[in-house]
Amino acid sequence: MRDVVYADYQSSKPVDPRVVEAMLPYFGAAGTFGNAASLHAVGDDATAALEEARATVARFFGAQPQEIVFTSGATEANNLAIIGYAMRNRRKGDHVIITEAEHISVLNIAKYLEKNGFKVTRAPIDLYGRVSAKKLRARVTDETILVSVGWASNEIGTVQPIAEIAEMLAGSGVALHTDAVAAEGLVPIDMGAVPVSLMSLSANDLYGPRGVGALYVRKGVQVAPVLLGGGQERGLRSGTEDLAAIAGMAAAADIMATEMPAEVARIAAIRDRLVERVLAEIPDSHLNGAPLEPSGGRLPNNAHFRFDGVEGEAMILSLRDEGVAAATGSACSSKTLEPSHTLISCGLLHEEAHGSLEFTFGRFSEPDDVDRIMAVLPGVIARLRVLSPLYKVKSPA
Ligand code: PMP
Repeated sequence: MRDVVYADYQSSKPVDPRVVEAMLPYFGAAGTFGNAASLHAVGDDATAALEEARATVARFFGAQPQEIVFTSGATEANNLAIIGYAMRNRRKGDHVIITEAEHISVLNIAKYLEKNGFKVTRAPIDLYGRVSAKKLRARVTDETILVSVGWASNEIGTVQPIAEIAEMLAGSGVALHTDAVAAEGLVPIDMGAVPVSLMSLSANDLYGPRGVGALYVRKGVQVAPVLLGGGQERGLRSGTEDLAAIAGMAAAADIMATEMPAEVARIAAIRDRLVERVLAEIPDSHLNGAPLEPSGGRLPNNAHFRFDGVEGEAMILSLRDEGVAAATGSACSSKTLEPSHTLISCGLLHEEAHGSLEFTFGRFSEPDDVDRIMAVLPGVIARLRVLSPLYKVKSPA
């Protein structure tokens, strides 16, 4: 990486060099390059490697190997989970519940379902971005077949009470899907302990390659495929499996299984220091989302601020000139120029949502990244405020 302070781990993580190493044997003629569907010995080797990777990924999430369906990433996993479940179970009902804090892929899938005759309810979130099990329960009707709640927000880092929601729905006949992409590798996820029906995963969030992920499908949960073809992945996801990428996801999960507790503590300390310094050193700055305490329900890597009178894109571009890579919110929606739907749903005004800046840290972040950010951020904000018609210096009371 060029000499940039990278604080945008939520949008993309570097692949761990140990993962790259683990992937290399799956490319060349001397390696395991076969197609798992072939009947010859080269295919058998590929099948063995594929099943070993499936078992490794399953183990990390407390799942059974046969409950893991490999996909091209989390967008595809969300499509398979929500569209696949809704189509397969339509005779039981036509109502789906999501929340106002969902990732854009879930929001767009919900619109697609509406166009195809389903009813969708968007449950509100509170000022921290949290949805309560009670609020969800109040929206369940006789027609409800599926509830989809992201385990954590990729934007403001709010962790949802998934265990409580899953317990609330258990035995009701309503399935729970969770997009766990923002949470994986940062909070413990155990399908043996939490009765979730469907869970979307991506490899990159574990420092694996991009373009590969998985859908966890609990044994007995019925889903219709959305990609039709040769019937790979138990008929749920046709297309030749990308063995190198899948082996990369497994290697990433294996590393995370041993390193996560220490890594999370280290990342949280870096994040906590940035929050402390920003709030102390930059006037009229605020933390968006949930409190920092471990019990506060916030991802340990996420710092999401708003600065009165300053606009997010202007901050990003100025920080870019100063060698700092941050984000205004979700990279997947960053080209729309609309204020974040999550922040608006938390109750922020449009100008407040537009004044937001997100820093996310990860495995290769260093404590001195905070010093390097704080060497430039106060100056950037002060310069932009001089130019801002919206910013009025608050006189002391
Ligand atoms: N869900 C969440 C919460 C995300 O942050 C992302 C993007 N990283 C996605 C889904 C889409 O993932 P992918 O790009 O792997 O399809």
